Amino acid sequence: MRRPLVAGNWKMHGSCTSIKQLLSELVDERLPENVEVAVFPGLVHLQTVIAQLADSSIAVGAQDCAVQLEEGALTGETSALQLKDIECSMVLVGHSERRQLQEETDSVICRKFSAAQAAGLIPVLCVGETLAEREAGNAVAVVQRQVDAVLVELGVESLVHAVVAYEPVWAIGTGLTATPEQAQEIHAQIREHVAKYSAEVAKELRILYGGSVKAANAAELFAQADIDGGLVGGASLNAKEFSAICRAA
Ligand code: 13P
Repeated sequence: MRRPLVAGNWKMHGSCTSIKQLLSELVDERLPENVEVAVFPGLVHLQTVIAQLADSSIAVGAQDCAVQLEEGALTGETSALQLKDIECSMVLVGHSERRQLQEETDSVICRKFSAAQAAGLIPVLCVGETLAEREAGNAVAVVQRQVDAVLVELGVESLVHAVVAYEPVWAIGTGLTATPEQAQEIHAQIREHVAKYSAEVAKELRILYGGSVKAANAAELFAQADIDGGLVGGASLNAKEFSAICRAA
C-alpha cells in the first residue's frame, strides 16, 4: 500500500519572517495522519525550518544537491551529505526549472540522484514534458527518457528508496493543470515502464503529480489510481490551502 506524499516546493520564496509565520500556521492546521507531508524551503532557510518542525511529523527536504558527494573545492555547491548532516530527509532532483535555467542534463540529474541516495536522502526525481513536446506527441517518450536516465543507469532497485514527480512543464505556475485523465495516463505509463524491470518496485513506487495543484483540483487528481500525492508550488505558500491539499490526498 503506497502512503500518499504531499510535498510543498517553496522555490525561491520567503524571508525568515514569512517562513516562520507560514510554519506556525501550518503546524496549527489539521494534517492527515495517513499522508506524509514534506516541505522544501530554499537552502538558506533549511535549518530554521528543520528546527521549527523538530516536534512535528512534517519532513524537510532541499531543492537541489551537488553531483559530488564528498566535500571539496566546489564554491556555492551543497552536498547531499551536508544536507543529511543538518537532518534533511529528502531532496528534489531534476526539477524542470533547473533543467531549463541551469541546463541540467539527464546524466547530471542521475549523478545527483545517486549522491542523494548514497547520503541516505530520498531523492524526488522530477520529470515532465514541455508544451511543444506534448503537442508533438512526445510526452510519453520524453518522460520515459527522463525516468530511464536513472532506471537504466542505476538499476530498478534505485527506485525503492525514491519518489518520482510528474510535472508537465506547461502546467507549472501557469494555472493550467493537467486533467486528471492526462496526468493518470502518464503516471500509469511510468508505473508500467518500471514494472518491465520489477513489478514489485513499480507497485510500491510513489508517483506525485505537480503543476498548478490547488485545493480545488487536488481531490480529483489524487483520486486517480496511479497518483500518489502532489508536488505543490505556489499553493504550498499558503498554510490553509496547502493543508487542504494534504487532506485531499
Ligand atoms: P506550481 O504548483 O506553482 O504550478 O508549481 C509546481 C512545481 O513546480 C512544484 O515543484
